[in-house]
Amino acid sequence: MLKLTDVASYYGNIQALKGVSLHIGQGEIVTLIGANGAGKTTTLMSISGVVQPKQGRIVFLGEDITRLSTERIVSLGITQVPEGRMIFPRLTVRENLLMGAYLRKDKAGIREDEEHAYTLFPVLRERRTQMGGTLSGGEQQMLAIGRALLARPKLLLLDEPSLGLAPLVVENIFEIIEQINKDGVTVLLVEQNAQMALQIAHRGYVLETGRVTLEGPASDLLNDPKVRSAYLGLD
Ligand code: ATP
Repeated sequence: MLKLTDVASYYGNIQALKGVSLHIGQGEIVTLIGANGAGKTTTLMSISGVVQPKQGRIVFLGEDITRLSTERIVSLGITQVPEGRMIFPRLTVRENLLMGAYLRKDKAGIREDEEHAYTLFPVLRERRTQMGGTLSGGEQQMLAIGRALLARPKLLLLDEPSLGLAPLVVENIFEIIEQINKDGVTVLLVEQNAQMALQIAHRGYVLETGRVTLEGPASDLLNDPKVRSAYLGLD
């Protein structure tokens, strides 16, 4: 579904990605793990077109998207849930949700997807007239995911959905990510919480200073001695 080949991305003179290659199959949950600054966010930004790679190729459903605008990439079916959620604090929960559908014109489909978001996240229905800024961290994460679903993505890019949330809330969010995947959405999940991410993912990649250093089925990575000591704090 998505293939990155030798992608190199920069911020000015700083090279954040040094030739990243990875692939995601339809229906998978794939996780990217790695330390702070390894390039996980930059990988997502390069896919969604926020950062333009200087080198390499990104192909989505057979189309080269390396140089396309973010708007075009969203309309092809890739939506990113940014780190920090980026909720509009002075818009209501419902208005925030509907911002996700800003490129769509199919009113009935949008209505259907709004209902679906409320089914996945009942708390958003309860709070739909409340300002986004008044939600708890966990609720804001739910709203950010719900908003992304309003774009009806084929591939959902999630950047650190567990960041700053209490363990029970994280569990709930991860269950919902699995549910979204079962509903047919392919997921690329960036996480500091490698343990949780590898538990729901089918496959994973380890990034170190802008390079993929390890890849494989999530169960293999969970048992890999290097992953266990460096990213899981085990052994
Ligand atoms: P984190 O978990 O801390 O977000 P990450 O693995 O997502 O880490 P990136 O955010 O992709 O890492 O950062 C990769 C490299 O690019 C780091 O060295 C970082 O300092 C640098 N970098 C990221 N954003 C910028 C920016 N806007 N300007 C300059 N350098 C940046």
